[in-house]
Amino acid sequence: MSDKVYGILTQRVIEMLGEPEQANGFPPWQKEWSGVTSPMNHLSGKMYQGVNALMLILASLSKGFASNRWMTLKQANAKGGKVKKNTKGFPVIFFKVQNLERINEDTGEILEKRQYSVVRYSLVFNLDQIEGVATPPIIESEGGDEPLTLSREALLAYMRAEGIGLVQGGGKAAYSPVRDRIQMPEGFTSEAAYTAALAHECMHSTGHAKRLNRFGAEGSNQQFAKEHRYPFEELVAELGALFFMSRNDLTYSLENHVSYLKFWVDAMRVEPRFLVRAASRAEKALAYLFESVGKAALENAQQNHQLSLKEGAV
Ligand SMILES: [Zn+2]
Repeated sequence: MSDKVYGILTQRVIEMLGEPEQANGFPPWQKEWSGVTSPMNHLSGKMYQGVNALMLILASLSKGFASNRWMTLKQANAKGGKVKKNTKGFPVIFFKVQNLERINEDTGEILEKRQYSVVRYSLVFNLDQIEGVATPPIIESEGGDEPLTLSREALLAYMRAEGIGLVQGGGKAAYSPVRDRIQMPEGFTSEAAYTAALAHECMHSTGHAKRLNRFGAEGSNQQFAKEHRYPFEELVAELGALFFMSRNDLTYSLENHVSYLKFWVDAMRVEPRFLVRAASRAEKALAYLFESVGKAALENAQQNHQLSLKEGAV
């Protein structure tokens, strides 16, 4: 059952990614795009996460939806809205807890009681696909480069907090787990491209043994190279960076990873949970990064507070 749900989701993602063999089979995010804000549920205001966020970002890109808000048919109807004709919803998955009881049929005694969760999906529609529900005004961000600067600052704050080194130079952006160091070459075409590449490498660094430990016990270079070559880790870093940039309304483009696309699509076809697993690890990587930045900011604030208390006492 659950593989069926993952299969439905994966199929839609593959459709939107396009066939890698075809000339136009490049992921929509490879084209420069901007301002795809993290998708959220229109009623609850909750942001979609992991594979659901990916699904709805891809949907927005491939259909050109202007809104980042989504609702189920039931939610739309409850708000007096109607789904436009000839539009298709997009599946998002959720987990439902179910109770299992094993009963002795003769005595009625409960032998075993446990809970387990099953994966289900529901279809959601973009507000652009719904009539009769008012779309909240889109707030244009004012300070042109500000989200970009703030995002880059957040990445650098994360690296400082975690003691991750940054070196300039080299032929390409890379992360070394042995040195716990990110290398960034010169000559990026834009500030946005630099930030996106840095986000990608930061996502790799969350996999270090002392963080989320995604590269195996030793964390040795060989081990990482093996994993790194294995495009799964690439997908994790790529999705993590995509989620990071979309939380901040930033442009993201997939530049050097198109060669993995065929592998990813093949892996998704063979293993329906491949994408869900990668997206959930990406979400964890992003959460780790934000938590680290938050902790460091709090410590800073406390230190400053203590300092000002001391100064006040003198
Ligand atoms: Zn990478």
